Amino acid sequence: KTVQVDAGSKSYPVFIGDNTVTQLNGFIQTHLPECTKVLIITDETVAALHLQALQREITGFPVVSHIVPAGEHAKTFDVFYSCQSFALEEKLDRKSLIIALGGGAVGDLAGFVASSYMRGIPFIQVPTTILAHDSAVGGKVAINHPLGKNMIGAFYQPEAVFYETSFLRTLPALELRSGFGEVIKHALISDKDFYESLLNEIDELEKVPEKTWAVLLEKGILVKSKIVAKDEKEANVRAFLNFGHTLGHAIEAEMGYGNMSHGEAVVIGMLFALRLSKKKLQLDFSINNLEAWLQSLGYETKVPAHLKVDALIDRMKQDKKSVSGTIHFVLLDAIGNPVIVKMDEQELMEELHIFKGE
Ligand code: NAD
Ligand code: ZN
Repeated sequence: KTVQVDAGSKSYPVFIGDNTVTQLNGFIQTHLPECTKVLIITDETVAALHLQALQREITGFPVVSHIVPAGEHAKTFDVFYSCQSFALEEKLDRKSLIIALGGGAVGDLAGFVASSYMRGIPFIQVPTTILAHDSAVGGKVAINHPLGKNMIGAFYQPEAVFYETSFLRTLPALELRSGFGEVIKHALISDKDFYESLLNEIDELEKVPEKTWAVLLEKGILVKSKIVAKDEKEANVRAFLNFGHTLGHAIEAEMGYGNMSHGEAVVIGMLFALRLSKKKLQLDFSINNLEAWLQSLGYETKVPAHLKVDALIDRMKQDKKSVSGTIHFVLLDAIGNPVIVKMDEQELMEELHIFKGE
């Protein structure tokens, strides 16, 4: 399966399926024939599982690898600096290529390294998580600052994305849930039939066959790529991709990164946004059905009781997507039809208390 992404500044293919990495060497030979060196950036967990398999595929070019800590620990200034130092020591030049092998954290880091090394060298994403169907497409790359997540970054599109679905076999249940949360998001903001097919057909994430993942990833990537094609730099419709994220990000931050996965926090955020959508836009939708299904898949569906409403609201106001302190929510006036609604702080506070069961 191939999805072509047209993101204003660049158009590039996303290859999805079993054995896609076997086409990687040929792709480099055709599209970057003068490539002088390949630097694979990956994390320690993924390196142990899949680095050799990837290295074996790149036969036509010198390859070096740099291994970084797993998870958010990859997205620090120190690790960013270590990547740049490694690239300089290895004498990468403007015709060298960086490959990101890993989940969203590695993709964000390696993409930002590529965007800034010698003012920008080519990079390719080889995503290894379900969540990365979201992060590897669209060109947002970043590291974290102690004062805020993803605060230091760029818009920088890859040359291509090779989604090797056999790499997904080693994902733990928690990571499947996190990534599948974004698949649900892509369904809810785009297409009622897509949503209903998920609801009817997916009943245990660990049992979803690789072929089905390939189909779901392709659908999710199509939704994202259509939106990015209209709005690469997030001036307007790209904001729809933040459905569930306004509260989701606040929960993630208040929990402390690593204590609740991104997608699981977004799932709670989506339930809240759906509730607001019913109230403010008369959305016709059964939240109960969705909630029961999510619980059966192992998701938490309530805001953790120890998180304070005030603190969550403060976080939402700090979000870099909110403008001068007003909180904008992505709501749905129908499944597949997102709209942006400015929320009054007082009302939001009341609704959050009710949602928390307080
Ligand atoms: P991740 O890269 O931290 O991966 C999650 C965990 O799974 C890590 O511990 C990793 O080592 C492990 N892992 C990865 N692949 C594996 C495999 N095949 N088998 C076993 N273990 C594996 O994170 P993620 O959940 O993929 O992505 C989250 C990150 O993505 C966040 O930093 C978030 O900010 C970013 N993100 C970026 C965008 C964007 O548009 N750039 C969008 C959404 C999220
Ligand atoms: Zn997300």
